[in-house]
Amino acid sequence: MDDAETTASGNGAENRTVEDVDPAAAFAALGNSTRVEILQAFREHHLANPTASAAAFSTLRKAVGIRDSGQFRYHLEQLRGTFVEKCDEDYRLTYAGSKVIDAIIAGTYTGRTRLGPVALDSGCSRCGTAAHASYRDGILEVTCEDDHPLFYWSVPPNAAVEASLEELVELATTLALQSYELVADGTCSECYSAVEPTIRTVHSEEAGGSVRFSARCRACAATWDAPVGFVLLDHPEIELLYHQQGRPISSQYWWELEVVDRTEITVLEEDPLRVRLSVTIGETPVRATVDESARVVGLDCPANMD
Ligand SMILES: [Zn+2]
Ligand SMILES: [Zn+2]
Repeated sequence: MDDAETTASGNGAENRTVEDVDPAAAFAALGNSTRVEILQAFREHHLANPTASAAAFSTLRKAVGIRDSGQFRYHLEQLRGTFVEKCDEDYRLTYAGSKVIDAIIAGTYTGRTRLGPVALDSGCSRCGTAAHASYRDGILEVTCEDDHPLFYWSVPPNAAVEASLEELVELATTLALQSYELVADGTCSECYSAVEPTIRTVHSEEAGGSVRFSARCRACAATWDAPVGFVLLDHPEIELLYHQQGRPISSQYWWELEVVDRTEITVLEEDPLRVRLSVTIGETPVRATVDESARVVGLDCPANMD
């Protein structure tokens, strides 16, 4: 924590304190297998003793299997501050330490599972050929036989160890939906920094002009890019409509959803961009107005007007 710089804003009622830790220095502390084992020992201790939030020095030392307590203390001290904190006489993981262990368990840094491709019971709306799912290097991807991209999302390797590809598509759909909901509300789903979602016009030779939902996190560089119809997915009235039709959004392939695939776009204003989306969901015609910051500012959904 030598490089830590503390800035406190004491004016507000929240009295918020933010500590900036140099990430390179923090991760350098993990560049040693003993220290990673220490973090894992915390998690194992917690699994064996669910009510204990902290672990004793000697418990951790024995779990890691180091006899020399001076040597063990040295490694533990390297983790203190960012990944481990002292709690009375014992030690416990910080939020960051806990997240490192979560990532190791999820296989984010080590997993190498590959699956597929297998054909799904679904087709491509553009060319009609069968959709295929495959999973490699932490990415679940669905394309058709003509290589049209249908769906793409990251899934931690640990989830792929025993799951079928159909189950992974379902999991990826849930994860993607949660992510887009957070981003649409202005929070990065990867690092929880503030993001500003937007809609933008794009031109491609194949598809001509279209409008996309788009966001980029300035803190972690995660990006989101999807057909503008995605903004309707987490609208309560649209969710209700799909639910009433007996096909809840979470149980369907996204590339088959009308709002993603068959939305007609009318540009109402160029600057700031404002568009109208027209789509028929089942038998129900829906019209929505979306503003530049990807908010649904008007919705005309007759089925729900009771
Ligand atoms: Zn296709
Ligand atoms: Zn981020």
